[in-house]
Amino acid sequence: MTQRIGIMGGTFDPIHNGHLVAGSEVRAKYDLDQVIFVPTKNSQPRFKNDVSPIAGEHRYLMTVIACASNPDFQVSRVDIDRPGDEYTYTIDTLRSFRETYPDAELFFITGADILVDFETWKDFNQLFDYAKFVLVTRPGANIDWEHLATLPSEIEVLEIPALAISSTDVRRRVQIGLPIWYLVPDGIVQYISKNHLYTD
Ligand code: ATP
Ligand code: MG
Repeated sequence: MTQRIGIMGGTFDPIHNGHLVAGSEVRAKYDLDQVIFVPTKNSQPRFKNDVSPIAGEHRYLMTVIACASNPDFQVSRVDIDRPGDEYTYTIDTLRSFRETYPDAELFFITGADILVDFETWKDFNQLFDYAKFVLVTRPGANIDWEHLATLPSEIEVLEIPALAISSTDVRRRVQIGLPIWYLVPDGIVQYISKNHLYTD
């Protein structure tokens, strides 16, 4: 039987419950065998002017901690370990997965906020040769159906329980001393505190 693999790319700076619910909902809805979380090599200053990137290794380890208890979740180092390239491009992630899983059906999972600049992604038109794109709803990101209809491939849209959580807000909360309990898994609260992340 063809393997069905979800790919959840992100900066995960840090990973939070919004990411985990997205992965879990898409896994259930599309009957995926596994969802693989793929932290980017770097935070992307192109998109994030507000943050100095912490070491990828911290982001990777937090992703591992958050996924550890779910047998359907895995974490990949494919982007973190990618040589050369300064940034992570989804097309490169997808090409790597296609090489590793030549026969699998790939589902790339993203939040609806990516629609803002989706067409500027590297090799945009080729993205859809590699994977089906599943857009999950996200508070604050309206789904522009007219825009969706102009895309070169049909995109799946999945409504998921709304969690108004962002990594930006988690970082800000840590910075100013507000709690992050229940926004991120317990182990992530503890990891951030132990390693003094986001307080500089
Ligand atoms: P930042 O604020 O640093 O941009 P983020 O919370 O947006 O962080 P990312 O690592 O940028 O997290 O997002 C990874 C993927 O998860 C993206 O496709 C994003 O749209 C999606 N995502 C993030 N938070 C949510 C959420 N609360 N609900 C649904 N999808 C989400
Ligand atoms: Mg984001």
